[in-house]
Amino acid sequence: MSTLKAVRGTRDLLPPETALWNHIEAVARAVFARYNFGEIRTPIFEDTSLFARGVGEETDIVSKEMYTWEDRARAQSEKSQSLTLRPENTAGVVRAYIEHKLGETGQLQKLYYIGPQFRRERPQKGRYRQFFQIGAEVIGPPSAGSESPLRDAEILEMLATLLDELGITGWTLQLNSVGSSADRARYNEALRAALEPIAHTMCADCQRRAVTNPLRVLDCKVPEDQPIIEKLPRIVDLLDPASVEHFAAVTAALDAAGVPYTRNHRLVRGLDYYTRTTFEFTHGGLGAQNALLGGGRYDGLSEAIGGPKAPGIGFAIGLDRLVLTLQAQELNQESAPPQADAYIAPLGEAMNAAALSLARELRRVGLAVELGDGSFRLKKSFEAADKTARCIVILGEDELQSGILTVKDFSTGTQTKVPRADLAAFLAEPSK
Ligand code: AMP
Repeated sequence: MSTLKAVRGTRDLLPPETALWNHIEAVARAVFARYNFGEIRTPIFEDTSLFARGVGEETDIVSKEMYTWEDRARAQSEKSQSLTLRPENTAGVVRAYIEHKLGETGQLQKLYYIGPQFRRERPQKGRYRQFFQIGAEVIGPPSAGSESPLRDAEILEMLATLLDELGITGWTLQLNSVGSSADRARYNEALRAALEPIAHTMCADCQRRAVTNPLRVLDCKVPEDQPIIEKLPRIVDLLDPASVEHFAAVTAALDAAGVPYTRNHRLVRGLDYYTRTTFEFTHGGLGAQNALLGGGRYDGLSEAIGGPKAPGIGFAIGLDRLVLTLQAQELNQESAPPQADAYIAPLGEAMNAAALSLARELRRVGLAVELGDGSFRLKKSFEAADKTARCIVILGEDELQSGILTVKDFSTGTQTKVPRADLAAFLAEPSK
């Protein structure tokens, strides 16, 4: 029988690497809290039509990357339904915003999420079929200021702060505006017209996109196509005055806050619902998949999925890529396997129960304790303890009766007799 493996494009995350994942998530949660965001958790699967309407039928995600299945009805009262593993989380957050009538609070909703997303992409370094995103959305009725360019600038400033606090160096903020949905429609037509006579000289993807979704031609990475793409019309020349003004206000606020950015005219992104500000933070160390995160404004999304007018802006960070970047930077150098404070070695199986009781005592006051086993010979206990803990505590019949335990500190090699009542305090002291 062949051995079973994790499905292509998925992977197991194991200790000690998971410590880095937890660290990144903890830093993100702390930063979001300072900006007064609250956490939202939406289901992993949703009605397929949410993504068809909220992400866009013509996008690569919806047209070829979703994990979709027909969920059979279990009772006559139920209907079978097409369900999809979420390929991204913005549509789900906006659905929840509509479903729970969060707009009626009249307040801006500032929501963040951390969790897995699923896309049937071609796996490679930094690109998986199950991957993890940390994202946030600011959404609300226009009266709450949800359309303000200050919201865009604040999100970008928060992201710069988060990356800095994680210790990620050398990131670049790429910024663009795709205008209003009317600007985008005009730009789409201008691109379509410009591409019509030349698309046949381009790659197969571009030929298809020139017809179905001309904006996506700008994402093409095929070297031969680049000179052609460079000469295509630029959206900046087609923006309406309100979008121009919005973009100028965003960049003025970024300048004032000292957040550096570069304008990237080709940044139109893969999702249909973006309007005005779009952005990506890239990192040179990531290779071909160089986007650490992406996001933008989506003023029409709520209405596209049947909700009230609720302009918003958000982003999704590729958590897998943050981990890759930090590992490459060797910032996690101190990731020698985490050490417990103590290893308790019962001398003989008769001491096992007492050892559990001692471990419980120490763990309850916050110490990290590894519990050995009385069936081990003392030499084996020492070897196991040396690999996993700073100290070994021997627990035999004598120690139990006298209440005096023998502790050996591996870093100093010293052996000390410690009364049980003082043990927790002794172990809590880092070795001198
Ligand atoms: P998107 O939802 O496409 O805007 O992507 C936002 C971010 O998620 C990207 O910048 C990547 O960092 C990350 N990302 C997207 N797709 C994948 C994937 N298949 N594997 C790993 N990370 C991904």
